Amino acid sequence: MLMESTTVGFSALNLSEPICRAVRGEKYDTPTPIQQQAIPHLLQGRDLLGCAQTGTGKTAAFALPILHRLSEKRQAPGSKGPRALVLTPTRELASQISDSFQTYGKYLNLKQAVVYGGVSPKPQISALRRGVDILIATPGRMIDLYQQRCLRLDQIEVFVLDEADRMLDMGFLPDIKKIYAMTPESRQSMLFSATLPDEILRLTKHFLKDPVKVAVNPPASTVDRIDQRVLFVDRENKGALLESVLLGDGIHRALVFSRTKHGANRIVKNLGKARIKADSIHGNKSQAARMEALRKFRAGKVQVLVATDIASRGLDVEGITHVINYEIPNEAESYVHRVGRTARAGATGVALSFCDAGEKGYLHNIERTINRTVTVIDDHPFHSASIAAKSKHGNATGGKFSAKRNSNFAAKPGKNQNRKKYFPAKPGKKIRSRSPRSAVSA
Ligand code: AMP
Repeated sequence: MLMESTTVGFSALNLSEPICRAVRGEKYDTPTPIQQQAIPHLLQGRDLLGCAQTGTGKTAAFALPILHRLSEKRQAPGSKGPRALVLTPTRELASQISDSFQTYGKYLNLKQAVVYGGVSPKPQISALRRGVDILIATPGRMIDLYQQRCLRLDQIEVFVLDEADRMLDMGFLPDIKKIYAMTPESRQSMLFSATLPDEILRLTKHFLKDPVKVAVNPPASTVDRIDQRVLFVDRENKGALLESVLLGDGIHRALVFSRTKHGANRIVKNLGKARIKADSIHGNKSQAARMEALRKFRAGKVQVLVATDIASRGLDVEGITHVINYEIPNEAESYVHRVGRTARAGATGVALSFCDAGEKGYLHNIERTINRTVTVIDDHPFHSASIAAKSKHGNATGGKFSAKRNSNFAAKPGKNQNRKKYFPAKPGKKIRSRSPRSAVSA
């Protein structure tokens, strides 16, 4: 990923040689801002409150000092239980963090295990029995295993609560408090959160002792590199618009966001009818099915992955050329998070948002948050002039939308067969009137 840092390299952080070697192997030249700001304090044993989201390099910011600390005072992992615990909201994030520990710790002799729900607990129990130094877990499965006495937490030296705001949204607060109370008072604690609402601030008072506070924005350069556009469309034409977009040139790997799990399934089904290979990832799917969908997407076997916000949290897939908001998220932060799935690792990317009449308020909030107006594409076959027109007057930012020619999707349908095949619904023609908001949760 791109980091605009001008300062020191990793060698100045006083991390042990095997860790520096692993980091060099990843071709990281410079610590990211959160790494630079957090690692020296963490190496001194301070607690930390990190206001940062995925994409800023925060995993290494906590993983490197943990590896350093545990390898300095090496102990044989055994029945006593893990020495570091990382709690994270989703299975995907847990397994990504586990991969990072694996990578950064490959020249160290530390053991780790990852536990999460949705899969058989047996291999996880066996791994715990063999002894681990570092445990990465989602809260529910961890409590189950603790209650079954497969695990003890009285040796924990470092406790990390990752994506705390998302944990709260997902109702994990009581579990987190329970787990925290099981760990020793002497632990070093870190809490990372993309946002700091009052509830998180209250939690930090309870969790952290005189913490160092570090706040970093998602790298502005990343958002700058994303070509962000909005397409005004009646809700009932979104499916047809998606097909036309995906059949255009230059879309190699697209991540489509749907608000609901059922919506995600429906999108995949409809794309299948248009012979576009797609799969979905959401909370109703088994862990194995989620991993398989991700694997196919990563390997390029499917061009399109349809995801809900929660399932996609923290996903790091290289080479996503397009993020498509089939529905605009009601929180501007989710938008920033979603579009940040493209333009990773220095690449450029395109983010397209389909905006129906009920979503314009969300768009305005997003524009306020990202402090820019999103370019309007109006030369697509399903453009709704009435939604666009209302937007011009109702734009809360006071900014002007500008129409731009678009090369990222299929040309307007002419009188050829494609029109019938790819544009089944005539723009403006109502197929079925649906409520723009569905009550089903992600
Ligand atoms: P994270 O925010 O931890 O999910 O990290 C996002 C991405 O940044 C991952 O793909 C990391 O491999 C990468 N990354 C982390 N630290 C650095 C660094 N110092 N230089 C370059 N890339 C990094």
